[in-house]
Amino acid sequence: MRPQSFTYSFKFGGPGCYHPLPRPYPRKRGKYHQAGCIMIDCHTHLSSSEFDGDREAVLARARAGGVTHIALVGQDMAENDAVRELTRGDARLLCFMGLHPDRFADRGPMPAEGEAARTAAMIRAAPPELCGIGEVGLDYWVCRDEARREAQREAFKTMVALAGELDLPLNVHSRSAGHYTIDLLLAAGARRVLMHAFDGKASHARRGAEAGFVFSIPPSIVRSEQKQKLVRALPLESLALETDSPVLGPTREERNEPANVIVSARAIAEIKQVGEGEVRERTSETARRVFGIDA
Ligand SMILES: [Zn+2]
Repeated sequence: MRPQSFTYSFKFGGPGCYHPLPRPYPRKRGKYHQAGCIMIDCHTHLSSSEFDGDREAVLARARAGGVTHIALVGQDMAENDAVRELTRGDARLLCFMGLHPDRFADRGPMPAEGEAARTAAMIRAAPPELCGIGEVGLDYWVCRDEARREAQREAFKTMVALAGELDLPLNVHSRSAGHYTIDLLLAAGARRVLMHAFDGKASHARRGAEAGFVFSIPPSIVRSEQKQKLVRALPLESLALETDSPVLGPTREERNEPANVIVSARAIAEIKQVGEGEVRERTSETARRVFGIDA
């Protein structure tokens, strides 16, 4: 274990890179130097069975590390139910329901006819605590077949239109489809958009940011040149924090968890050459704005 004073550097990321525990805030002085400065994890899969053994402990570590809100996304109707159950009665856990583009992957059966319409009906019938729609989007990596891509696009369009109609934010997945995802969202006039772990080119991201889309950065930034480029290319006000737990952690081997949003905050602070407190504050403000969280 390295000493606590070690300055975390993404430059040395990669297999076996240092995985710091949240350290007591604050570290630097300045405008944002205040205890209790918070963070929001904008994208997780906490309903995953990987957390069944210790979910409460994971949530406790996140709270102790200053994470006030955690977004849980659903990937299909069964998972949407699980997310609703887990988030019920806890305002700190944000409920998102969706239909993941992976469900249209080449390997595996196609979703049943009308699945997007049934998911839309489920979202319409959801309680007012529903925070938004997700995980939805496009994934051309798992979907090479053009007919399946077309079905993916149709499902995504249904969700984007519903978000507009209900004035809900979208929690969007995009893999090997950055250009198409941004184009589709812009063409549909989507306004409240969180692009999670965007893997596309910075030039496409910039077009989204200009339209007010927010890009949430996972801890895997410490081992991803593409994510570091993305942060360099976008203004701080377009950035938010996420973990995508249980994946996209600082190391590939370890299960990721919401307390690790601090890793993203530190990497952004280092790239943008601003204090960690400022990154926490600004990304939280941005997440509250796009998700419509009051406090
Ligand atoms: Zn996800």
